[in-house]
Amino acid sequence: MTDWHDQAQCRGTDPETFFPAGFGARYLTRIERAKDDCWACQVRLDCLDDALNREGDTAASMRHGIRGGLEPDQRWRVHQQLTERKAAS
Ligand code: SF4
Repeated sequence: MTDWHDQAQCRGTDPETFFPAGFGARYLTRIERAKDDCWACQVRLDCLDDALNREGDTAASMRHGIRGGLEPDQRWRVHQQLTERKAAS
């Protein structure tokens, strides 16, 4: 069985690509490039699922980077929605 990490679009790339630092237009451009890479990644949903499992209950200050095509606050909102749905069912 192949580990999804082996098929990651970001494998072998500079980690800073998916954990950009800074501010302003240059920072936003980096964020969008990372997201574009993620959305072209064939294991995006595996990655997002992993990120949601790992980061969902983690303090906001500890959540970083682009994973599964989403920014930390976006992942947190998805996690919250999934949690609410589970509670309602
Ligand atoms: S979705 Fe993005 S962060 Fe996740 S494995 Fe693919 S390229 Fe890497």
